[in-house]
Amino acid sequence: MLKVENVAASYGSIVALKSVSLEVYEGEIVTIVGANGAGKTTLLSCISGLMPYKGSIAFKGEKLGGKIDSAGIVERGVIQVPEGRQIFSDMTVHENLLMGAYSRKKGDNIQPELDEVYELFPRLAERRDQKGGSLSGGEQQMLAMGRAIMAKPKLLLLDEPSMGLAPIVVNDIFATIRKLNHEKGVTIVLIEQNARLALKTADRAYVIETGAVQLSGDAKQLASNPRVRDLYLGG
Ligand code: ATP
Repeated sequence: MLKVENVAASYGSIVALKSVSLEVYEGEIVTIVGANGAGKTTLLSCISGLMPYKGSIAFKGEKLGGKIDSAGIVERGVIQVPEGRQIFSDMTVHENLLMGAYSRKKGDNIQPELDEVYELFPRLAERRDQKGGSLSGGEQQMLAMGRAIMAKPKLLLLDEPSMGLAPIVVNDIFATIRKLNHEKGVTIVLIEQNARLALKTADRAYVIETGAVQLSGDAKQLASNPRVRDLYLGG
C-alpha cells in the first residue's frame, strides 16, 4: 500500500534521513521505532508531502510528491495525526471535527463519520461544545484522532499518540487504535516513544537509527531481539 524507497531528507546541513526504505501492506499496523532524533517524525512529514526529500514514496502504486502535493495526499486517504495534536484551541470539539472533513468533496455526507467518531469517543460527544483548548491531554489526542477519521483515512500516520498521557488514558487510546485497524480496516503507521507498547500493538516494525533502517520484521519477534531489548526496551 505504501512503498518508501531510499528516502533522504535534510534540514539545511542537518541530515535527518540518510536512506530509508520500507513497505506497509494494506490492513497492517507497522511501527517505526527509534531513539529521539532518529528521523521518525521527518519520515512522516515526507510521506505527508510536508517536507522535500530525495527518493520515492508511492501510495497504492501512485508516486506521491510532484503533482500530488500534501492536499492531494490527504485526498487519497493518507492522514497524519501530528505529534502534539495541533488541534484548534479556540474552536469547539464539533468544529474541530468538521475541520477534519475539509478535504472531502462538496456535498459528501459526513454524518456517518461524525457518528463513528462520537461512538468511538463518547467523551468527545459529551464535550462537543467545549473549546478544544480546554480539553485534557487525553481528550485532545482523541480529538486529533477523531479529526483524522473525519477525513476517511485509508492510511493513518500516528505520531507519538501516548505523549504526555497517563497510563490509563494511553490504554484507551491504544485500544481505539487497534479497533480502528481491526474493525474499520484502517492501515496504520505508528511512531511511539513507548517501544514496548508499540511492538505489542503492531504487526511489523522497522527500527531506524541515524537516518536509516537497521532492523525490520515481525513486531513480536523484534521485541525479543537482544539489540532491540537493550536499546529500546530497557534490557
Ligand atoms: P523524536 O522521537 O525526538 O520526536 P524523531 O525520530 O521524530 O525524534 P525527527 O524529529 O525526525 O526525529 O528529527 C530528526 C533530526 O532532524 C534531528 O536531529 C532533529 O534535530 C532534526 N530536525 C527536526 N526538525 C528540524 C527542523 N525544523 N530544523 C532543523 N533540524 C530539525
